[in-house]
Amino acid sequence: MIGPHTGFNHWVRRPVIRAPDDGRADWVTGGADSRHPGSGRHPDPFRLFAIAIALAAALSGCTADQPAIDGTGTITIAGATLIDGTGAPPIEDAVVIVRGDRIEHAGSRADVLVPEGGEVIDAAGKFLIPGLVDLHNHYRDGLEEWSWALQLHAGVLTVRSLGSDHGQTPAKIDEARAGIVPAPRIFTAGVGFTHPEGFPPGKLGPATEEEARAMVRELAAQEVDLIKMWVDTFLDTRPKIGPEIRAAIADQASRHDIPVSAHVFFEEDVWQLVDAGVRFFVHGVRDQEVDDEFVAMVQEKGLSFAPALGQAKTFWWVAEHPELLEDEEFRAGLQPALLERLLDPENRAAMLKSESTAKRRVAYDYVTKFIRRMNEAGATITVGSDSGAGNIAYGWGTHHELETLVEEGGLTPLETLAAAGAAAAAELTEEPDFGSIAEGMAADLVLLSADPLADIRNTRQIDRVMQAGVWLERGLPEFPQPAAGDNQ
Ligand SMILES: [Zn+2]
Repeated sequence: MIGPHTGFNHWVRRPVIRAPDDGRADWVTGGADSRHPGSGRHPDPFRLFAIAIALAAALSGCTADQPAIDGTGTITIAGATLIDGTGAPPIEDAVVIVRGDRIEHAGSRADVLVPEGGEVIDAAGKFLIPGLVDLHNHYRDGLEEWSWALQLHAGVLTVRSLGSDHGQTPAKIDEARAGIVPAPRIFTAGVGFTHPEGFPPGKLGPATEEEARAMVRELAAQEVDLIKMWVDTFLDTRPKIGPEIRAAIADQASRHDIPVSAHVFFEEDVWQLVDAGVRFFVHGVRDQEVDDEFVAMVQEKGLSFAPALGQAKTFWWVAEHPELLEDEEFRAGLQPALLERLLDPENRAAMLKSESTAKRRVAYDYVTKFIRRMNEAGATITVGSDSGAGNIAYGWGTHHELETLVEEGGLTPLETLAAAGAAAAAELTEEPDFGSIAEGMAADLVLLSADPLADIRNTRQIDRVMQAGVWLERGLPEFPQPAAGDNQ
């Protein structure tokens, strides 16, 4: 059934060509429950003729008003279970049609005609999810392309750089956006804010509100996608950015219509930041359990949390799970110097015994409880791995966060895929054309060979990855060069 391309979305079967299941053609004869009650007992002969043509066409695979179904240039993925990234129930035996860099159709096979003449992938037994969205990443000067190659390999197709763009990183992001270097779709906060003596080092540390406002104006001129601030004492080792400075930053950002995302630890800071207009948070409350008043505030304000649970536990996780050091994708995503340290059993033993690990375990208990409570309360939970921080390998780290959100954050696998899908995308831009699988969206797809709803760790069973309508050549990149950076 090949012919000239006659327009958009002609694959979709129209309701008119479907007869009722019981074979009664009330809609043809104009019965009592007809959509055309006026045509009652005397059906229009011309209309009957048109419907007969349509039915015949349906049986032969196309419709009367859509005689030409040309799949040339399309890629159809047929037979997979579709998990669309919105949290909607999966669709078995789905058909997804890609034309150019867009999804032209996505739905059940019962509703669509598989086009002929294009590439058709038989994906029976496989599972199709949107390219993963990761809201929390740090890229290192000189290591950007390596990091992005790892993420593409892992199906992470949209990322947010959260405040560590130093050296050549901004120029590399420009190249990535121009399609000069392979990379996920990138949103960035540029360089973030902290206390002048705070952590991480080398960030923006305004001493006065005026200075803070001037820095936000400068970031706005650089067209950053958001403003990032770290509001934390880092286990009581550093001063926190002051409340007046935070409020000035948030206010100035709102004047430029730029959202703010805050790294938080203490409950009191969430209250203060919400007062200042902040709605997006990374990590979560880690100093105590929150009460009903806090939960009600979260619901009223519509707050969103990307907890980075995987990163929070990584300080002992690797030591407790040395088998990870055999995992090719974990090893490949770490800087070699860090991997060397982890490979040394003495270092791993020291990680387990250290005082900071003990403090982190307490904080971890709080934050996992916090995320369970937030999820139950209907807060938005998103995926942000903190890749590039500590022991979080690019690519691997995103999947580790998915796993941890299910195992310890209390999300279902379906909710978790929405947290890395439509929910995360909605935080990046008002009308995202990525993060879910639907007609008109970017053709960013990950085809899995095992069911992520049965076991979220199956998101690592990647059969292939499509970015903007193109199947990627996957592979783990070599580490480019010795390089150092800060660790947050
Ligand atoms: Zn971070």
